[in-house]
Amino acid sequence: MKIVRCIDGSQRALNVEHISFRSNDDMEVRLVDFMGDDPSVVEAARVSTHQGLKGEEKDRALIAYLAENDHMTPFEHVVVKLYIKCPLCIAVQILRHRTFSYNMLSRRYTSRNISFFIPTVLRTQNKKGNLQGSSGELDGDASKELLNEIQNFYKEAHLLYKKLINMGVAREQARFVLPQGVFTEFYMTGNLRNFMHFVELRLDVHAQMEAQWIAMSVLKVLFSIAPVSVSYLFKRVRSRLTLSDPVHSQMRDLIARMEKEVMR
Ligand SMILES: Cc1cc2nc3c(=O)[nH]c(=O)nc-3n(C[C@H](O)[C@H](O)[C@H](O)COP(=O)(O)OP(=O)(O)OC[C@H]3O[C@@H](n4cnc5c(N)ncnc54)[C@H](O)[C@@H]3O)c2cc1C
Repeated sequence: MKIVRCIDGSQRALNVEHISFRSNDDMEVRLVDFMGDDPSVVEAARVSTHQGLKGEEKDRALIAYLAENDHMTPFEHVVVKLYIKCPLCIAVQILRHRTFSYNMLSRRYTSRNISFFIPTVLRTQNKKGNLQGSSGELDGDASKELLNEIQNFYKEAHLLYKKLINMGVAREQARFVLPQGVFTEFYMTGNLRNFMHFVELRLDVHAQMEAQWIAMSVLKVLFSIAPVSVSYLFKRVRSRLTLSDPVHSQMRDLIARMEKEVMR
């Protein structure tokens, strides 16, 4: 349990352990720890003039001004540490964001707790527009059959992995047979500025759907800590973002709450 200061001068208790999101296909984004809140952003901005908090109206207006005018450094004083569980190929995409600190499960150290990402649906390849991406869903029957095949393939890969380990092959080599769908887990620590840049890139329809889900969950975590700053920072990038239908529908409530924050 941590105390968060609110922009109106009140305080609220945030149960860190409860800020956790799990997808239908078993990915997870969980808040581990954080430092800072909306007033921290205001205090950081006003230290330059030797002033502090000035009450809700002025403090909100300052956060809005900072976000709208790209004065981003005060947002770096809210620092958030997350635990993320996702398939290896999604982790590789997240790790491309260089301004975070990461620590990750090492398959050189452990051969335990191996599990695999099983998609809830199979999507079809995009043939125009974003050629990296996917569009609709594959036919029901074909999808069911292929999902079974995927599970069997994972089982085979896991069996071979265990055989290599049991025969004395080093973990660092045995892992070559684990497919990209194997789950990995890591800590990701960064500040609100880094995270909102991450959200801008990975929440967009051009990002892989699974990465969009991670970005949406990250945004939900951030909002629970610093709702005013997150709402104004989101407003700043909203016009550049195109949301996929599934993400948009899962974010409806959050978007409404963020819009309410910036309307006050
Ligand atoms: C939809 C999508 C598709 C992608 N497809 C590919 C792909 O096909 N192949 C591929 O290789 N990558 C791909 N990427 C990854 C992309 O190129 C970036 O590596 C990733 O999005 C991280 O972005 P970033 O560098 O802005 O973020 P960060 O690494 O978090 O950096 C944040 C900011 O810090 C600054 N910065 C950080 N490091 C440097 C530096 N060395 N020099 C100057 N400024 C720096 C920049 O302003 C940068 O925007 C894709 C990303 C997305 C979102």
